[in-house]
Amino acid sequence: MSIVLTGDRPTGPLHLGHYIGSLKNRLDLQHKHQMYIMIADTQALTDYFDRPQFVRDNIWQIAQDYLAIGLDACDIFIQSTIKALPELTMYYMNLVTLARVTRNPTVKAELKQKASKESFEQSAPCGFVCYPISQAADITCVQAELIPVGIDQLPMIEQANEIVRKFNSMYKTDVLKESQAILSETSRLIGIDGNAKASKSLNNCIFLIDSPDVVKQKVMSMYTDPNHIRVSDPGNVKNNVVFHYLEAFYEDKEDLAAMKAHYKKGGLGDVTIKQKLIGILENILEPIRERRSKIKQTDVEAIVYAGCKKASKTAHEVLYKVKEAMHLNFDIN
Ligand code: ATP
Ligand code: MG
Repeated sequence: MSIVLTGDRPTGPLHLGHYIGSLKNRLDLQHKHQMYIMIADTQALTDYFDRPQFVRDNIWQIAQDYLAIGLDACDIFIQSTIKALPELTMYYMNLVTLARVTRNPTVKAELKQKASKESFEQSAPCGFVCYPISQAADITCVQAELIPVGIDQLPMIEQANEIVRKFNSMYKTDVLKESQAILSETSRLIGIDGNAKASKSLNNCIFLIDSPDVVKQKVMSMYTDPNHIRVSDPGNVKNNVVFHYLEAFYEDKEDLAAMKAHYKKGGLGDVTIKQKLIGILENILEPIRERRSKIKQTDVEAIVYAGCKKASKTAHEVLYKVKEAMHLNFDIN
């Protein structure tokens, strides 16, 4: 049994990208390991610092999403309640050079994404550029060994492991452990608009809370092959959003291969493949809606607060050992 940590930023409700990139793995892992799920509000504030109420509302939205999916055999906690985290982050900051933080490819891509304001790189808060360092604190505070994430998170785990190695060798200790990412088969779901990643910030996703009508309308608006004008025309399955989603969610691979061959040859219409996709997505989303309708806010709060207490205790113990290794264990009582 290993310790597993994953998390999401409370910047909007969870979507199918999360489901296929990480949540589906978590459903399985929660029964095999000790699993923590962190709602990363402190991290969300690095670029939503001016919208604290929005972040707070989304904490409860995401917690409800977790329970609706069936994540009920794990400990869910809120990042900002763990007092050891900013302290660990502060110590780790000294182990990372400025050049290294700005070289992180995910941070670079996210800065670029925000840079319709070309100047975001100029005005980006230090907290945002340094969030991979605070993520190293998140991972180590519960001594996590396995991290089920989407592919965009690989550079973060690499950076966290660098910090772990540096800390252990610098302070001649073995208190911190390295962690390993677990990638799902679909480690990056594209957006319904064809963008490389479905993301809350880009609002190009199908959310787990979307009603059947909204799901239908979003699938119907998906881009297919612009040259596939008549049903009888041969179609392209590459760069075709509907087929990308079918690849990710349709479990009958034999039928999918047959559909692809039919589409390429001509004779399979866009409406037909879209209707097929709607049916497949509804098979996933309907049970989630059903479970959600039975969840009470008071239950969500009780579950999350219990998780916060547990994670806080573990993090405090890790912080104690970290400070001991750094000769900062003062006994002031
Ligand atoms: P934001 O735009 O606010 O960063 P997000 O949609 O990227 O939101 P996060 O909370 O940053 O979501 O990510 C939570 C987890 O979900 C991470 O492990 C991330 O890799 C994974 N994830 C997010 N979007 C996708 C996607 N489109 N495909 C696969 N995995 C994803
Ligand atoms: Mg993200």
